[in-house]
Amino acid sequence: MTRVYNFSAGPAVLPEPVLRQAAAEMLDWQGSGMSVMEMSHRGKEFMSIHAEALHLLRELLDVPANYKILFMQGGAIAENAIVPMNLLRGHTSADYVDTGEWSKRSIQEAGKYCTVNIAASSRASGYTHIPPRESWKLDPNAAYVHICANETIGGVEYHFTPEVGEVPLVADVSSNILSRPLDVSKYGLIYGGAQKNIGPAGLTIVIVREDLLGRSLPVTPSAFDYGEQAAADSMLNTPPTYAIYIAGLVFKWIKARGGLAAMEAHNRAKAALLYDYLDSQDFFSSPIDKNCRSLMNVPFRLRDATLDAKFLEGAQARGLVQLKGHRVVGGMRASIYNAMPIEGVQALVAYLKEFAAQHG
Ligand SMILES: *Cc1c(COP(=O)(O)O)cnc(C)c1O
Repeated sequence: MTRVYNFSAGPAVLPEPVLRQAAAEMLDWQGSGMSVMEMSHRGKEFMSIHAEALHLLRELLDVPANYKILFMQGGAIAENAIVPMNLLRGHTSADYVDTGEWSKRSIQEAGKYCTVNIAASSRASGYTHIPPRESWKLDPNAAYVHICANETIGGVEYHFTPEVGEVPLVADVSSNILSRPLDVSKYGLIYGGAQKNIGPAGLTIVIVREDLLGRSLPVTPSAFDYGEQAAADSMLNTPPTYAIYIAGLVFKWIKARGGLAAMEAHNRAKAALLYDYLDSQDFFSSPIDKNCRSLMNVPFRLRDATLDAKFLEGAQARGLVQLKGHRVVGGMRASIYNAMPIEGVQALVAYLKEFAAQHG
């Protein structure tokens, strides 16, 4: 068996020890005689898996007691609608900061439910930076302020938590959750799909301040009503049981590696290796402003785009896969989530050097 270095933006690489444990437990989870996939979600075995995953996530992110953690389904794109349905609370508008493809998607969807005020946008610059907080035009009557904490496609990330006063701050953290410590108390709500930095697709994580619950629009489907899901301990409908089990193993893996501070050090070391090389020569380049570069998703370009296909072919031959950039930005993109070992980034940089020497 040969495992590749998988730079996919998502679904993405998972820690190998987690996959091995899941394989070992596939037919018989801890003497239960069943696979986790075969368990009743209300049985004592799965209830213990669910409770432990919740507990570990609360511990890793140091989630304050007045926040609920919900395990839902539908992914971040569903949350783009679920957030306004739940958080408008009698308001008619919400503020959105536009930093790229995923913010645009959130804005489009929210427009079905409320008036969207674009508080700031980096569109004019081609989404290569985060608009500085001083430039935002916030509305004190907005239901909430929405940001995308890490633009998975464009590769810009917030390296600050915006101060927005009394209005709840909402963040799509799909692609950087658990990559480093996060002060949950600064947010009204954070949400993200699991398939970037946590586990299999199908699980969506929502962490919401309790005082925001219970005022959803009457048309809100029960399964997507935060208040109803919180009251039912995320078991109003059948939760994505196997994805929760894997997420729990990933949480345990992160804890064993020293928690989020250790993850941050690991992720900063990997990102520095790649960005430092990109900045050190002119065959490859990063289009993103230095103070907004994502630690998780690193888009880069070849000086000569006619070599793109050859670059990808050579990468594939070395077991460096999924490096093609998203079609809207082109070029290349290396996603280097928690589970990407530093050896993967070292192998990538070695290949970049070799390719530049050959074709530069
Ligand atoms: C992947 C991604 C999404 C879309 O998630 P789905 O699970 O496909 O709904 C939204 N926002 C961000 C930041 C993402 O990385």
